[in-house]
Amino acid sequence: MIFDVAVIGGGINGSGIARDAAGRGLSVVLLEQGDLAGATSSASTKLIHGGLRYLEQYEFRLVRESLAEREVLLRAAPHIAWPLRFVLPHHAGLRPWPLIRLGLFIYDHLGGRRILPPTRTLDLRRDPAGAPLQARYRRAFEYSDCWVDDARLVVLNARDAADRSADIRTRTRCTDARRESGLWRLTLDAGEITARALVNAGGPWVSHVLGRVVGAAAPTRVRMVKGSHIVVPRLFAHDRCYIFQNADGRVCFAIPYEGDFTLIGTTDEDYAGDPASVAITPEEEAYLCAAVNDYFQAPVSRSDIVWRYSGVRPLRDDGTSAAQEATRDYVLELDAPDGMPPLLSVFGGKITTYRRLAEAALARLAPFFPRLGPSWTADAALPGGDFPWDGASGLARDLRARYGFLTDATAARLTQSYGTRAATMLGDARAAADLGRDFGHSLTEREVVWLVEQEWARSAEDILWRRSKLGLRLSDTQTAMLRDFLSSKRNQAGW
Ligand SMILES: Cc1cc2nc3c(=O)[nH]c(=O)nc-3n(C[C@H](O)[C@H](O)[C@H](O)COP(=O)(O)OP(=O)(O)OC[C@H]3O[C@@H](n4cnc5c(N)ncnc54)[C@H](O)[C@@H]3O)c2cc1C
Repeated sequence: MIFDVAVIGGGINGSGIARDAAGRGLSVVLLEQGDLAGATSSASTKLIHGGLRYLEQYEFRLVRESLAEREVLLRAAPHIAWPLRFVLPHHAGLRPWPLIRLGLFIYDHLGGRRILPPTRTLDLRRDPAGAPLQARYRRAFEYSDCWVDDARLVVLNARDAADRSADIRTRTRCTDARRESGLWRLTLDAGEITARALVNAGGPWVSHVLGRVVGAAAPTRVRMVKGSHIVVPRLFAHDRCYIFQNADGRVCFAIPYEGDFTLIGTTDEDYAGDPASVAITPEEEAYLCAAVNDYFQAPVSRSDIVWRYSGVRPLRDDGTSAAQEATRDYVLELDAPDGMPPLLSVFGGKITTYRRLAEAALARLAPFFPRLGPSWTADAALPGGDFPWDGASGLARDLRARYGFLTDATAARLTQSYGTRAATMLGDARAAADLGRDFGHSLTEREVVWLVEQEWARSAEDILWRRSKLGLRLSDTQTAMLRDFLSSKRNQAGW
């Protein structure tokens, strides 16, 4: 078979483009060398945000588009995305109060807002948000952005693409791509395929794919900017997030995470190594602890860290000196010499703007596909997201009522993972025993099988750190049980 579009890269950009293209009637294959969201797209701060500090860099196009996307994504995936209020404490040594007020005024009005409430000011001596902070912080701004489970957003895009007939191939590396007789001929680590158009959404590998896989003579360079996060036991009881301004001009977030934890990040430094081996350094850990220790009363130290992760932002190299100044906007590069099949490469982009990036990518490919359907993703729910943006708790209640053996916590977790598809996953179960073995913290055999069959999970890591964050809770023994189960299933026919 000849595919219309072959996409290299199962991060948010590759999955988003595959979904959009499949929904417009193109035959699509997505190639991911590891697991979906195995690289940058599970290592973000997980914010759907305009990026307040990008206003300082005059990135108005990016900020406007990002702000507008917040409510679009909230409506498309209300199970994995929700509104988040950001508390920005202030004292005299920081950016001046009137400047921040002006920035937030622009932020409130630039991208349109129907669901998200506007900015307000807080008296930290009275507001509960002031309780964990040092006494010198007396006032703060509070504004709106959103939270998203980045890795699940990728999987849901791939799932939707597959539901629209796309062929999703994980653990499949593209090692060579050549133009031959008006088509792309792709060599995979197992087999070959042909396609009319090639999309290079290799993230930090985008230049590598151009140079080594496609054989371009002078591939555009990617600027790799590393960012790391740490997770510590919960530092505060409320559900708002802090945005702290650091002495070095950067910002640091402290975000409520997975109920019992606080996520702190991020760092921002140039990176030259192999993207696959990116890891946090002791200096970055110390930097992040110091950043929040300027604000919280109770100090955080490296020994509090229960998990850490790092990723590499795949930005287009625009020659700026400081890592944090490089543009976060996306750039699409089309290579289609006379009559030859097109190659579209993706640089930069954010989780927040992936859907718009996909639309822009399809607009660039449109001349090669005269029967291409119109844009459609602005109003389309992602799998399991077909319920109102504020309906998650009602949905969890309904699930609990229908499956009386679930605890409230499990019903909430399943709703936040699968939305309306949680009931499809649970199916005809009448009692907890019908779901098979419980590997711990309500992860059952039935859910594991669903993740393998519906969401391309293959290993315990896929399940514990990307399809869920149950890795924060399962013991080594429980993880080993899950590994054994997966390997015994792998030996059975059909898996
Ligand atoms: C620290 C940090 C914090 C961030 N925070 C935010 C945030 O809060 N909000 C936001 O909107 N954005 C954020 N971002 C940006 C966002 O995460 C990235 O821009 C986005 O994830 C990039 O997605 P991608 O699909 O381009 O790349 P990736 O997710 O890296 O995907 C590329 C994929 O291509 C695959 N691949 C490469 N070569 C091949 C090959 N030859 N064959 C097959 N597969 C191949 C790789 O395995 C990889 O999975 C953050 C980024 C970082 C690093």
